[in-house]
Amino acid sequence: MYRPTGPANLPHDVWTLIAGRTAAQSVRDLCSLRMSCTAARNAGDEDFVYRCANIPIWDQRWWSVSPMHHPGRNFLARCRQSGHVEVLFRYAVSDLFLGGCRFAGMETMHVVAAQGHSAAQYIVAMMLMLRDDAESKNKGLQTFCWLEAAGALTNCKLVFRGVVQGTWRHLRRVPRLNEENQVCSLHACPSRGNMGAIYRHQRYGRGWDVNDGDGGAGHISCVHCRADYELILFVHLFD
Ligand SMILES: [Zn+2]
Repeated sequence: MYRPTGPANLPHDVWTLIAGRTAAQSVRDLCSLRMSCTAARNAGDEDFVYRCANIPIWDQRWWSVSPMHHPGRNFLARCRQSGHVEVLFRYAVSDLFLGGCRFAGMETMHVVAAQGHSAAQYIVAMMLMLRDDAESKNKGLQTFCWLEAAGALTNCKLVFRGVVQGTWRHLRRVPRLNEENQVCSLHACPSRGNMGAIYRHQRYGRGWDVNDGDGGAGHISCVHCRADYELILFVHLFD
């Protein structure tokens, strides 16, 4: 004979799925759900649920250092521990550009990039191309070419700028771009060394650093020069 099952008797896996769906909608709703019964509270403590949590990574209130926000910070720490991709990305940005440990930031950024996070792949590419050694530059260039071919660069910059512009200006550690470490080193290249001039022309013409769709260096045939142009855009995302 069929017996209806009360919500408290649902299997743990089902509760976990419900909690995950709820977390993906709203962290506040997840907290309410967790307080409703023991089964919900236990399910709500699963890594899967923390990985699903809907956290606006550009919202600075989540990352406030104020002691008033301890519950929020504990929640974030738990998301990080569970492998929440966006939270890991935000922590990596913080370590790389906002005064944390650069090495740890780059390690985490690689982990996030390996999970298919385009903005993380973009940052890894830019940071590798900014290095002095040819091997790093080539690795970065390969990822840049892939993102360029996929038409993903604009969105990557929008995501990254959304995070870094929402942070305190005085905390930012802006990457340096020197003439000496540019990607294009071909002396015969006709466009080499002209990217700065193209950027200034574009910037004063439009005041828009993010969109690749019109103008910019899209018409330049040398991929190394296009990479140099992208590096100029990258460092100006911090302006
Ligand atoms: Zn070139």
